[in-house]
Amino acid sequence: MSTIEQNLQAVRDSIAQAAADAQRAPGDVTLLAVSKTFGADAVLAAMRAGQTAFGENYLQEALDKIAAVKLALPQAGPAWHFIGPIQSNKTRPIAEHFGWVHTVEREKIAVRLSEQRPDGLPDLNICLQVNISGEASKSGVTPAELPALAHAVAQLPRLRLRGLMAIPEPETDVKRQRFAFAQVRTLYEQLKADGLALDTLSMGMSADLRAAVLEGATIVRVGSAIFGSRNYS
Ligand SMILES: *Cc1c(COP(=O)(O)O)cnc(C)c1O
Repeated sequence: MSTIEQNLQAVRDSIAQAAADAQRAPGDVTLLAVSKTFGADAVLAAMRAGQTAFGENYLQEALDKIAAVKLALPQAGPAWHFIGPIQSNKTRPIAEHFGWVHTVEREKIAVRLSEQRPDGLPDLNICLQVNISGEASKSGVTPAELPALAHAVAQLPRLRLRGLMAIPEPETDVKRQRFAFAQVRTLYEQLKADGLALDTLSMGMSADLRAAVLEGATIVRVGSAIFGSRNYS
């Protein structure tokens, strides 16, 4: 087995264990492999090991990788999720090349994605990024502003609002990790009670995926536990 294959198996086992402990079906949690900074070869190795969904943060790097993977495996297109910060002048290639965007935090960005989503493609799946760490993080809509944004985005054509995404402050204590994720889940439940048809909680990374699954994550975004530590140079 390749290292990536072994790592993927270990991550799948952790997800299954956490799901079992939470009395959830393991199939309720989708593993998104975060391949940022790793090449198309790493994506192809993960695909050979059965991985079908990949997350990318940096647009140009992602577009090159998507093209390289398509060239190598024209039949088997994986699902590509954009999980990085979005600049408003970069929305068009995101709308054209991804199936999901997890990091929408402003209506203006959602409107652009809606206008720029090509007609022939299925609706673009959207998660709203919520800032639950307050001052500590600049990314994400505040809980107070979330309902208005969610209702506005849910109206837009060619988008399908699926749920919420969050990146809490790093915590080593599992109880604290769970506390942050539980806040996201509460916001999500409130939006659903308010009539929005949501089904996705994108939360949990390599270091806190167990806590996230215990608190109801339906997508965990895992990079280093699959591909190894990143080198940004
Ligand atoms: C890099 C990244 C991840 C993966 O982080 P790991 O700690 O390597 O698992 C998940 N989500 C987002 C938004 C990221 O930028």
